Amino acid sequence: MFERTRMNTTNTQIDTAAVQQMDAAHYLHPFTDFKDLAAKGARVMVRGEGVYLWDSEGKKIVDGMSGLWCVNVGYGRTSISQAVYQQMETLPFYNSFFGTTNVPAVELATKLAQIAPPAFRHVFFTSSGSEANDTNVRMVRRYWDLQGYKERHTIISRHNAYHGSTVAGASLGGMDGMHAQGGLPIPGIVHIGQPNYLEAGQELTPDEFGLKAAGWLEEKILEVGADKVAAFIGEPVQGAGGVIIPPATYWPEIQRICDKYGILLIADEVICGFGRLGRWFGSELFGIKPDLITFAKGVTSGYVPLGGVLVGERVARVLVEQGGEFTHGFTYSGHPVACAAALENIRIIEDEQLVRQVADDTGPYLAERFAALGEHPLVGHADSCGFVAGLNLVRKKGATVHENELFDESLGVGMICRGHMFDNGVIMRAVGERMIVAPPLVMTRAQIDEMTDLIRLCLDKTYEEIKTRQWL
Ligand SMILES: *Cc1c(COP(=O)(O)O)cnc(C)c1O
Repeated sequence: MFERTRMNTTNTQIDTAAVQQMDAAHYLHPFTDFKDLAAKGARVMVRGEGVYLWDSEGKKIVDGMSGLWCVNVGYGRTSISQAVYQQMETLPFYNSFFGTTNVPAVELATKLAQIAPPAFRHVFFTSSGSEANDTNVRMVRRYWDLQGYKERHTIISRHNAYHGSTVAGASLGGMDGMHAQGGLPIPGIVHIGQPNYLEAGQELTPDEFGLKAAGWLEEKILEVGADKVAAFIGEPVQGAGGVIIPPATYWPEIQRICDKYGILLIADEVICGFGRLGRWFGSELFGIKPDLITFAKGVTSGYVPLGGVLVGERVARVLVEQGGEFTHGFTYSGHPVACAAALENIRIIEDEQLVRQVADDTGPYLAERFAALGEHPLVGHADSCGFVAGLNLVRKKGATVHENELFDESLGVGMICRGHMFDNGVIMRAVGERMIVAPPLVMTRAQIDEMTDLIRLCLDKTYEEIKTRQWL
């Protein structure tokens, strides 16, 4: 049965029930209630082309989430599969541990140094964003150790941040649900509040709130002791936390505080990098100058796993010039096949000028369409930044965003809305009652219309359902 199912994925008909049954019997999914999924049955995705996906029932779906924030150049790019195939034929693997290297890794490191902000000339490769953030934890501590500051080990992050799911990644992250399992965070990682204006900006303008939220960093530094703080880490725009776009005053003030205390600034650009915000890196949009940049996801558009850390000159100078082994790395650091995929992916982004397209054309258009969705009776607030956007479902709109009446969380209105979306052929993610998208960067204006029309239809359906259930 397994053989038949495998063959059928490249043909026409798939036995959905059989796949779901095997899935439930053997496959433990990430971030999943196993029991719940086994009862429902997983949706079986079989094919992608451009911004569209097809499931095993032949249903066509607009992928508003780029897979998981990563398929920046869209599905079905033959030139990436060819680059991968050729590299596998030539040299499928060799390690970079004992004084060896490989051509795709060298070419990619060189290419990344070209497209990254000027202070970045070095890169450390991993296979994921989580591993890259683990690398950050060890690298910033080593940076301070090498200079004799052995106490300077604490890293400050933010509540509701997402920095991955390894022990260090989940500790850096600020997700309560993750910390509750497995005794996290590990020592030496502390958290401050997030710059979420909707949640905490009452009675302040966004700009005033941005300064206030950045001020929490200074308070924490003083509480921990400036001589014990190694680094601050943050996503330019928080992704998994719900597309939280900080006020314009936030990042410049964070930068000023990091500079004042000599603290390293780590920008986790796993989502914001590679054109997502209409710049190669989100830091550039917010005018910040990080010392380290975490990347993954969009670097290969998800075709093959790859991540890493861009290491700025401030850190590289110490690590490279002082010498001594950095006792860290992965079997697949600088994997030639993953690097070949990344090189071709970056070539496509450049060739099709996707970064500029998002900045000047489709990003502003997406903003327009989301602003229009903001008029819907169920939507209390809608915003966007480049190619991420979100809208908040509310029970009743108020005169200001802080006067919106919210739904009781236990009703699960976001998940109901997400269900309508999936059933009607568009993927949006629900983070509580905030509905978010991060479309492939290749999405055209016409496809943005198609996506936002479907979203509107599903908002109507959600509204009807809520009325029927008498939740208004
Ligand atoms: C997805 C993500 C990660 C983790 O990347 P993985 O490849 O899943 O390990 C880290 N940071 C951010 C901001 C992310 O969005």
